[in-house]
Amino acid sequence: MSIAERLAEVREEIRTAALAAGRDPEGVRLVAVSKTRPAADVIDAFRAGQIIFGENYVQELRAKAPEVKKSVEWHFIGHLQSNKVRQIAGLVSMIHSVDRLSLAEEISRQWGRLSLSCDILVQVNISGEITKSGTTAENALQLVRDIAVLPNLRIRGLMTMPPFFDDPEAARPFFAGLRQLAELIDSEDIPGVEMKELSMGMSGDFEAAIGEGATLVRVGTAIFGERR
Ligand SMILES: *Cc1c(COP(=O)(O)O)cnc(C)c1O
Repeated sequence: MSIAERLAEVREEIRTAALAAGRDPEGVRLVAVSKTRPAADVIDAFRAGQIIFGENYVQELRAKAPEVKKSVEWHFIGHLQSNKVRQIAGLVSMIHSVDRLSLAEEISRQWGRLSLSCDILVQVNISGEITKSGTTAENALQLVRDIAVLPNLRIRGLMTMPPFFDDPEAARPFFAGLRQLAELIDSEDIPGVEMKELSMGMSGDFEAAIGEGATLVRVGTAIFGERR
């Protein structure tokens, strides 16, 4: 199957999952995760109507973006070191993986130098697995409060990566947990903080995530095939 065909299939699955959950399919945006894939694959997907692409590695993104030369929207979804923030300032429109204050401060500083502001999501390790990055559910509210006072960035919501299960339904309680945490934070009415976006769900489990309220699903393999 071509990238365009797989993309059409994923879009249809997103639509079906949204309708099954009683949601408007327009409320779920697809982030095509293009890490390790060449610029040509991004261009193929763009020609098939895909706009948002997710990347995990700063160097790879820096090399790929100028090659793509299309009006795509880049989202950064991987672990981000503060000393690399400068290299993606202004290049990405959203960072999904903000898990500590020092990183948010550096994003604020680097976007500020360009007189721009960056949309961010706070990444939460909702399962508490030690191998996963993200702030803990317990610390998330305080982290949001601390970040909210910084200029040049806007908190749009939360992101999580649940543990891997063979059965995607097993991830559902973690998706529900992220939604409940977002509702709790939202109820605090912190100035400048929005909890509209929930970035959750990947190739194996995006349907369950949509059932629990995902507004951004990050799908790689199901669109581009297995990563080499
Ligand atoms: C690689 C990656 C994805 C996509 O995973 P697939 O299983 O290929 O869909 C989503 N989110 C993050 C943070 C990733 O690193």
